[in-house]
Amino acid sequence: MVQNSCARTGIQNQRAKRTAAKRRILATGQAVFASYDTAMSTSETEFDVILSGGGLVGLTTALALDSAGLRVCVVDALPFETQLANEFDGRSSAIAFANMRMLCALGVAKRLGEHKGPINQILVSDGRPHDGLRQGGPGPFLLHFDADEFSGKDAGEPLGWMVENRHMRMALLGEARSRKDITLIAPVRAEHFDFKGSKAKITLSDGRILQAPLIVGAEGRNSPARKAAGIRSHGWGYNQWGVVATVAHEQPHNGIAHEYFLPHGPFAILPLPGNRSSLVWTETPAAAKYLKSAPDDFFQAELERRFGSFLGALTPEGPRWAYPLTLMVVEKYIAPRLVLVGDAAHGMHPIAGQGFNAGIRDAAALADVMAQTVRAGLDIADPLALERYEQWRRFDNTALLAATEGFVRLFSNDLAPIRLLRGLGMAAVDKIGPARRFFAREAGGGVGALPNLLQGELP
Ligand SMILES: Cc1cc2nc3c(=O)[nH]c(=O)nc-3n(C[C@H](O)[C@H](O)[C@H](O)COP(=O)(O)OP(=O)(O)OC[C@H]3O[C@@H](n4cnc5c(N)ncnc54)[C@H](O)[C@@H]3O)c2cc1C
Repeated sequence: MVQNSCARTGIQNQRAKRTAAKRRILATGQAVFASYDTAMSTSETEFDVILSGGGLVGLTTALALDSAGLRVCVVDALPFETQLANEFDGRSSAIAFANMRMLCALGVAKRLGEHKGPINQILVSDGRPHDGLRQGGPGPFLLHFDADEFSGKDAGEPLGWMVENRHMRMALLGEARSRKDITLIAPVRAEHFDFKGSKAKITLSDGRILQAPLIVGAEGRNSPARKAAGIRSHGWGYNQWGVVATVAHEQPHNGIAHEYFLPHGPFAILPLPGNRSSLVWTETPAAAKYLKSAPDDFFQAELERRFGSFLGALTPEGPRWAYPLTLMVVEKYIAPRLVLVGDAAHGMHPIAGQGFNAGIRDAAALADVMAQTVRAGLDIADPLALERYEQWRRFDNTALLAATEGFVRLFSNDLAPIRLLRGLGMAAVDKIGPARRFFAREAGGGVGALPNLLQGELP
């Protein structure tokens, strides 16, 4: 297996061409630039796009748009150094293989270095906790995805990559800081938005006003930009929380991810570099809150009951976190001079590890659309261009949300007949090679009309 995430990208030359193109855009004045008065930076600065929110998706989008030849400003409410602290975010993200191609193209993957580990196989099963009669660990019916089954242009790719969020944040921020056309402003809140006229305006909590032809709302589920544009959201909770922890184990995991379905929801064991795995353990809200701060020996005993003994002795590492799991859909992804990306546009259950992945694909599609808009000499916030972004991403994200919702309902159900049926269903799909390969490529982000960045090319 190749597993060199950046083997396919010959990006340096392309990047040099983009920089030259950017200079040409500025020289011809095709883009509409804003200026603002800043106490932080030197004098007048001009932006094409302001990103409100510099989390995982905001920073990815900033890099994608910069690579498309735009000048970008990112505003975040928290100091970036806070977001890099160990205690800030204990999650790890499974990154689809096509999305890792994009992170290679953007220069992020090389900054991740050894902090990314391949997912070679995924085993999905109906697990049962050890209860005296049954062993913990995977159940008898298995659905098995294997990267060795990829062929053609995907041959040699792993199914995906695991990266701890803190390392991802460090790599994204490091790359963003190295780009001269990305301005980072934090900690400061985006408070008021005005989308009228030829430039949208954001009033910051320190009183400054920034303006640009386009604002990208990337502030997560409570996006103030989305609310200011009057875009409504709908959603519901699952009465489930995800307990997140990292665990060291005696035996190597060989890049195999496991997802068991337990009575209160999925229990995922995701392979990190070294003999370590990231856990996402779904429980009722009360149980999750208890587990988050339960005494170590209690946590260890409950963990072993579920995890099983197939990787030898387990040693939980560092603090634990607990996140409420909810679904959110929005009525529109765009409004005049506004585009939404990431969790500001869609919120999903982590059962399939797709939230950040969907945000990466939003960023890739937006970069393609913006690059074409600039090349055509149009206003960056041209309504038809924004429509194109919305159509492209809404279809993909809605299908993903619906699939995720179906999986959660099906796999959080502990009725014996349903358990038997889904076990048989998994065993049946496992026997059908093309179906298995289709699901693997779908989860890896390698199907459909892929934006340039997802093919490892610049927009
Ligand atoms: C348990 C768990 C496991 C997960 N595992 C995976 C996985 O394996 N793979 C995957 O793809 N996804 C996964 N996800 C989903 C993923 O973590 C999210 O989709 C992703 O973090 C969303 O990023 P975001 O940047 O859109 O939003 P956020 O992370 O919410 O970032 C929003 C940013 O905006 C800033 N902000 C907020 N308000 C303002 C304001 N007024 N002004 C300026 N800035 C503001 C915030 O400070 C923050 O930095 C998981 C989620 C959970 C809960």
